Amino acid sequence: MSDAHTSSGSLFMVVAPSGAGKSTLVNALLAQEPAIKLSISYTTRAPRPAEQHGREYYFTSDDDFLARRLAGEFLESAEVHGNYYGTSRILIANQMQAGTDVLLEIDWQGAQQVKKQFPHAIGIFILPPSIPALEERLQKRGQDEPHVITRRILAAGGEIAHAPEFEYVIINQEFATALAELTSIVRAARCRFAQQAARNASLFAQLGIHANLS
Ligand code: 5GP
Repeated sequence: MSDAHTSSGSLFMVVAPSGAGKSTLVNALLAQEPAIKLSISYTTRAPRPAEQHGREYYFTSDDDFLARRLAGEFLESAEVHGNYYGTSRILIANQMQAGTDVLLEIDWQGAQQVKKQFPHAIGIFILPPSIPALEERLQKRGQDEPHVITRRILAAGGEIAHAPEFEYVIINQEFATALAELTSIVRAARCRFAQQAARNASLFAQLGIHANLS
């Protein structure tokens, strides 16, 4: 599989505790930057009322998930808040091959697994401005049962402890600022030497630039 280093596309991993506003930020980014493809994960979690199979997730059973995992279908997978989640290896491989920018909305465990296989993947951690703000967002979303919300609040500290493993950190205090920061990271990633060299191979050749990428 081509690494982000030899593909013109970049692989972004956006990670956050539940309630940090990650999905809203990512959706706003994708509306602005339609060339980025959001990876649709498999999950054993039950769909929320407004969610659709094949749009937010591929919803599946424990048996089906575990069989796929055994067959090596996942680039990464993890158990998060009592459910399984996984990223399809083939979907990512195809998009990376095509030079597409791909964004994974995953947890820190998945990000660690991806980083081992794609060392040039770009990790972005979204932090809430405070723990009360995170709790308030989870309560207001009103899409999860109270025991699910409590479980997620309790898990937040453990997830936040992994922020130092990421290249970039965004504090989602003011939405517009956080979105501008996320967009800047994506645009800067596209200007990395390897991505520019892959995207503009003939120009680089004309200019006599010989990429020496390891
Ligand atoms: P939710 O149930 O709120 O949609 O997601 C719960 C957590 O699972 C979030 O942190 C989300 O980023 C993470 N998640 C979603 N898809 C994947 C995936 O494919 N792999 C991993 N490792 N985590 C995922």
